[in-house]
Amino acid sequence: MSFLAQTAEDPSSESIPGAADGRTHLFNDRTAESYRRSVTDGVGLVASTVARTDRPFTGVTPGELAPEISGIDLEQPLGDPHAALKELERVYLKDAVYFHHPRYLAHLNCPVVIPALLGEAVLSAVNSSLDTWDQSAGGTLIERRLIDWTAERIGLGEAADGIFTSGGSQSNLHALLLARDEACKLVEKEAAAAGEPVPPKSEILPRLRILTSQASHFSVKKSAAILGLGYEAVIAIPCDQDRRMRTVALARELDRCLSENQVVMAVVATAGTTDFGSIDPLPEIAELCSRHGSWMHVDAAYGCGLLASPTRRHLLDGIERADSVTVDYHKSFFQPVSSSAVLVRDRVTLSHATYHADYLNPERSVEKLIPNQVDKSIQTTRRFDALKLWLTLRIMGADAIGALFDEVVDRAAEGWNLLDTDPRFEVVTEPQLSTLVFRYVPGDDSDADLVDRANLHAREALAASGEAVVAGTVVDGRHYLKFTLLNPETSLRDIAFVLDLLAEHAGQYLALHIEPELSHSRAS
Ligand SMILES: *Cc1c(COP(=O)(O)O)cnc(C)c1O
Repeated sequence: MSFLAQTAEDPSSESIPGAADGRTHLFNDRTAESYRRSVTDGVGLVASTVARTDRPFTGVTPGELAPEISGIDLEQPLGDPHAALKELERVYLKDAVYFHHPRYLAHLNCPVVIPALLGEAVLSAVNSSLDTWDQSAGGTLIERRLIDWTAERIGLGEAADGIFTSGGSQSNLHALLLARDEACKLVEKEAAAAGEPVPPKSEILPRLRILTSQASHFSVKKSAAILGLGYEAVIAIPCDQDRRMRTVALARELDRCLSENQVVMAVVATAGTTDFGSIDPLPEIAELCSRHGSWMHVDAAYGCGLLASPTRRHLLDGIERADSVTVDYHKSFFQPVSSSAVLVRDRVTLSHATYHADYLNPERSVEKLIPNQVDKSIQTTRRFDALKLWLTLRIMGADAIGALFDEVVDRAAEGWNLLDTDPRFEVVTEPQLSTLVFRYVPGDDSDADLVDRANLHAREALAASGEAVVAGTVVDGRHYLKFTLLNPETSLRDIAFVLDLLAEHAGQYLALHIEPELSHSRAS
């Protein structure tokens, strides 16, 4: 139906102000030029903003920005993209936290590669939805190639499969859902084989346990709760001083569960803990899992970059024995959010998330061999995030990505040397990947609580200045500072500069807050 016919026949559209105008904003054959101009304007604004960014952050507070945002009348559209971009510059771009800046050292956010940004532009405009073939012809096959590529890098074998997800938390949830349902199936099978009545799910679920290290990601616990098992189903296995799971403790816990009629539905090993970048001893964990018949999940949300590393792939040895693996391309593959995947050793296990909807993927579509990704996913409508990785591999190649990740791992080792020889700081553990966890310590025997507050203050003061953004964490009940290095542009000089700033802020705080007589005796 043409535009004119529609307005002539449908009086209701006349009564909606802006309905005709709305049509000019739809992306189609007639507006392609306007799309090009508008997106080019936006890209231009981002490019010029990034080109003149000299700090990772302005230090803006929520209190300063809130009135700007709430002062905007959403009932009064600006109509014009130019005006909206100008407004956006004021309320967002000017004060955004910029991960590309070499002194952004806080969380697991990477600078992104341009081939992936190109992919992002293409995928949002074409807007394929990766649930069914009739919404994503071609895209489905590209995603499948990348899943196969990743599974091959891991070494999961011929029967492997997987699916792109929104992030590591979703990948972990998905893997644990499969593990839960496999465990239930096993318990039911065993009962049947023993000629016992098959227990209902309500009796099996409370017996299920997930074993994971103390340093694993909180999404493991959240997943357990979402899956109806509760936080209590997750048992934290102690770590050694390098923050790697103690396998002796794991073995003991596996035995204890067995003797108490609990079912270990999964052991979650971490390949790159969020705080320490530590990699659990994967071969030993794999051995224990196979001996106990437990599902082994490896959370490599952070460490997956090693899959592309030309020099450090061996750090992931043992990952090939996992039943499922989480990878976050948006952490160590330099991809924009979101880009993640969950991989499984046996594609059949993915069917625990399959549901046949008459309108979408009826059973007869299976007979016709039409590839439907929705059968494998816990999402329905789903972004074509895989396209970003596809263009990255086609333009740069995996070695180039791996070399970038290698660089940040090298930088972390240099940073550790710097910290280890600096009397102002105490550093927790030599990094396997690219995090540094450390704490400012004054040369005297200042009260540990006061030192805690000085470290907290240093982090906040630094962020407020916008000179650098660093993270914080708690180790053994004490406040520590954390650098997460994911930017090859971060130099050792940047690290040294930020350490000086932190020491200065912490020192000033201590000088102000230390008991008067103490500070007096220090000064004299
Ligand atoms: C970041 C992280 C996650 C969560 O991933 P999101 O993409 O943030 O959801 C899970 N596990 C580990 C080890 C992580 O570092």
